[in-house]
Amino acid sequence: MFALRWGSKHEVVLASTMGESVTWHLACVVCEATYPGLEMRYRCDCSGTLDVVHDLSHCTLTREKLDARLASKTPLDRSGVWRFRELILPLGEEVLEAIAVTRGEGSTHLYEASTLGARVGVANLWLKHEGENPTGSFKDRGMTAAITLAKHLGMGAVACASTGNTSASMASYAARAGMDAIVFIPEGEIAFGKLSQSLAYGAKTIQIEGDFDDAMELVQKVCDSEGIYLVNSINPFRIEGQKAIGFEIMQDLDWQVPDWIVLPGGNLGNNTAIAKGLVELHQLGIIQRLPRLAVVQAAGANPLYTAWTSGEDVVPVKADTIASAIKIGSPVSWRKSMRGIEALNGVVTEVTDDQIMDAKAMVDAAGIGAEPASCATVAGIKRLVEEGTIKPHEKVVGILTGHLLKDPDVVVNYHTEGIEGIESRYANAPISSSAEIDEIRKIIRS
Ligand SMILES: *Cc1c(COP(=O)(O)O)cnc(C)c1O
Ligand SMILES: [Zn+2]
Repeated sequence: MFALRWGSKHEVVLASTMGESVTWHLACVVCEATYPGLEMRYRCDCSGTLDVVHDLSHCTLTREKLDARLASKTPLDRSGVWRFRELILPLGEEVLEAIAVTRGEGSTHLYEASTLGARVGVANLWLKHEGENPTGSFKDRGMTAAITLAKHLGMGAVACASTGNTSASMASYAARAGMDAIVFIPEGEIAFGKLSQSLAYGAKTIQIEGDFDDAMELVQKVCDSEGIYLVNSINPFRIEGQKAIGFEIMQDLDWQVPDWIVLPGGNLGNNTAIAKGLVELHQLGIIQRLPRLAVVQAAGANPLYTAWTSGEDVVPVKADTIASAIKIGSPVSWRKSMRGIEALNGVVTEVTDDQIMDAKAMVDAAGIGAEPASCATVAGIKRLVEEGTIKPHEKVVGILTGHLLKDPDVVVNYHTEGIEGIESRYANAPISSSAEIDEIRKIIRS
């Protein structure tokens, strides 16, 4: 173990990396330059984003080993991220047992959803509910990896820019690790359920006059100059933790690979992660083939969709959608994302806010429930089936990324007075009644 100290120009100096070698290195997605695995950097000198590249040549992970861990009672095995530790942050059993900052994240339910599937055109539909993570979204999977690495590096403070789920997750995991947490949020753009978590877990919460993309730019500068560890999804270790969603889906399905995995895309870290993880799992021979991947964007925040259909690079847009978690106009991980989509023979599509809210009403009414961005998944499946890309007989796993209660305002408004630009086709408004039993009987019988 070693401590970090800061050089005269606030450059990070690894005080005693000597003697510690890790089995991974960092590699630039653009120019392929490589850096040591524990070097404190989020970008290449050429400004490209970085990958964690594992040396899998000594990895002895098997289905049997992973399945045996499901019956184990140790904190690492009980976590749906650390169960796959050899492919996440292979620091060794002893180190991880001592330092892993875990809340038992993952192990979320994979819902059989054929009734809902019939409504969108696929009978064999499954929904992986990442809203069932400790702070209510899949962000906990990336966060447990990033905060554990921060602890290993001896960092005292972490920061992120967020419209919600990342800040809630970081605030919680930093508090568990005894680190300071600093959250940058775009003023007025954060859902209440999430702001409340960030405040409650004790993060220093700074509201920026500007949108998410402005907040993102500022937080990168502050982290560089103040020696704070940045845990937005530009941080390659967040991606490593999020790979576990794909691993867990495969394990949930007893290693039988579905035809499709469908998920929403905002900053594009999650689809990057799932593709990267599944390619690694395939390389190890733990799965026999790869599923196809579909990334769904909101039509008002669709830079990847535009780039994908035109074959050009991503051009930032001014984002506008009701699905706040994917309201991102300048996605940081787009190159990695495209690479993963290509590797999994994937597609990118877009859906309108109206389609997202219709899908949300269906997901909610199925008793499952999720936040708007998550339901872009189901809206996207519907569109891809209608276009013939997804075939009605194919086995589809949709990822619901976040919890219904993230944005209770949106839900209540949808079902009561309505939301501008959205048709509340499935409204279920509360009914007012006097305290008279006869009137109540009438309402119940009607
Ligand atoms: C972060 C988030 C997304 C978007 O994920 P990216 O990795 O940024 O593409 C979607 N849904 C929810 C609920 C999220 O929290
Ligand atoms: Zn580079």
